[in-house]
Order: sequence, then structure tokens, then C-alpha cells
Amino acid sequence: MRCPFCGADDSKVIDSRLSAEGDAIRRRRSCVECNERFTTYETAELSLPRLVKRDQSRAVFNEDKLRSGFLKALEKRPVSIDAIDSSVKGIVRRLIATGEREVDSRLVGDWVMDALRELDEVAYVRFASVYRSFQDVNAFREEIERMENKTEQPGDD
Ligand SMILES: [Zn+2]
Repeated sequence: MRCPFCGADDSKVIDSRLSAEGDAIRRRRSCVECNERFTTYETAELSLPRLVKRDQSRAVFNEDKLRSGFLKALEKRPVSIDAIDSSVKGIVRRLIATGEREVDSRLVGDWVMDALRELDEVAYVRFASVYRSFQDVNAFREEIERMENKTEQPGDD
């Protein structure tokens, strides 16, 4: 980190702590040349990877769209909005955690499936039939087959 006082390229970190909001790391630094001290803040890179669809087209990940997918699947189901929000946030976190610039959209689909299955079995099936088949009929069929195989051979994936 370049020193803002003398422009030296090197500084050493003398203290590191999480900001009060928990979304940034505050570092106290000392310049190795002039010994001046300064503070830097590092925030996590929040850019989400793009989704690569089946036909290889790319799409920007849309959190609102994901949330409405959940809401649609969970319509009239006994699942709280807090639980839905926490599932959506969990998926966003997993996306960020991949550190990739592009992610196969089917991977996200799998995460949604996992999340829905935990929230509500009925919604899980509904999502599979409405949402995924809407995108790709064959993908839905494959999903059902995969589910059936999973049921027969648990852990074999
Ligand atoms: Zn300096």
C-alpha cells in the first residue's frame, strides 16, 4: 500500500480490525520510509459472477428475480419471509464465494433446489415443475431423473 505522505511503495500493517458494521476491514499502517501512519479500509469485492446458461449465453445474476422465484414457489406455503430472505442471501453469498467471474446457471439452480427442499418439500416440487421447466423442459426432466436416482442411491452424486 503506497504511503500517502511520501509515496513510498511499502508499508506495514500494525493493526487490523473489522469495522463496526462488519463489512470492511480497517487496517492501521505504518510507512517503512517515513514512519507516518495512515488507515486503509478494505471491503469485500461484491461483484457477482455472470451466469452461463445452457445455450452458452450469459446473463447478469439478478437477486430480485431469484427472490420472486422463491416467493412464487412458496406462495401460500407456511414459510416466513425471513426464511426466504435468508435462503436468497445464502445463495448470493455462495455465488460471491466462488470467486469466479462466470458460473454455470445450473449450479445456481442446484442451490435453489437445495434451499427449497430445506424450506418446503411442496415448494421444491413446484419450483422444479414451474420455474425450471419454464426455462428448459429437458432440464426439468433430467432433474426429476436425477432426483429419482438420488432417492435410490443416496450419496451417489
Ligand atoms: Zn511514507
